[in-house]
Amino acid sequence: MPELKHIFFDLDHTLWDFEANSREALTELYQSLKLSEKGLPDINTFIKAYTEENAKCWEAYRKGEMSKESLRSERFARAFRRFGTDDFRTAEAAGRLYIEISPLKTQLIPGTLNLLSYMASKNYRMHILTNGFEEVQHIKVKQSGIEPYFENLITSEDLGVKKPHPQAFLGALKRTGSQAAASAMIGDNLEVDVVGAREVGMLAAYFNPTAKPHTERVAIETRQLIELRKYF
Ligand SMILES: [Mg+2]
Repeated sequence: MPELKHIFFDLDHTLWDFEANSREALTELYQSLKLSEKGLPDINTFIKAYTEENAKCWEAYRKGEMSKESLRSERFARAFRRFGTDDFRTAEAAGRLYIEISPLKTQLIPGTLNLLSYMASKNYRMHILTNGFEEVQHIKVKQSGIEPYFENLITSEDLGVKKPHPQAFLGALKRTGSQAAASAMIGDNLEVDVVGAREVGMLAAYFNPTAKPHTERVAIETRQLIELRKYF
């Protein structure tokens, strides 16, 4: 078995604290678009509804059933409609604003910097492999200060195929000049990151902070990022 040389990280919810950053961005746009005056409930109720609609839209996007452009406004339009507000213009404005504001947010999952500097000290070559959008993922990595750790930031948009499709992993391996058996993938999504990587022969580590139960065979699983140090 070749020595492990390359580590691929998922970005959203694994290193970049999507929940916290999204909450900050949504709070700002709720205020600047005066959503409370448009029939929408308090910010927490709104965020909960948006989060649920966003997850459904992302699932549709990942399956190729929704385009990137429609996802951006549709998740807001659907959240608005839950409260009887049918206002596509405001939904479009919210979609644009969200894309502008959220990538500038800098909260990281606890343990991110600790883990990355540990991995760097072990001379692993590190890359990001994300299903997120090309233009926003680069901004997130730069703004949050983790850019220097990575040789490559590879998005599914760039590859033309999304995780967990085998071609996403194989494309990333090819681009970085690495081989599956010498590579690991670390991510928070069991199906997308962990099973996907395992299926192409990579070592897969499941970051499962809420200890979601499952029945998959997983090589490495931790609730905290820093716990991953003992495996690498
Ligand atoms: Mg993720």
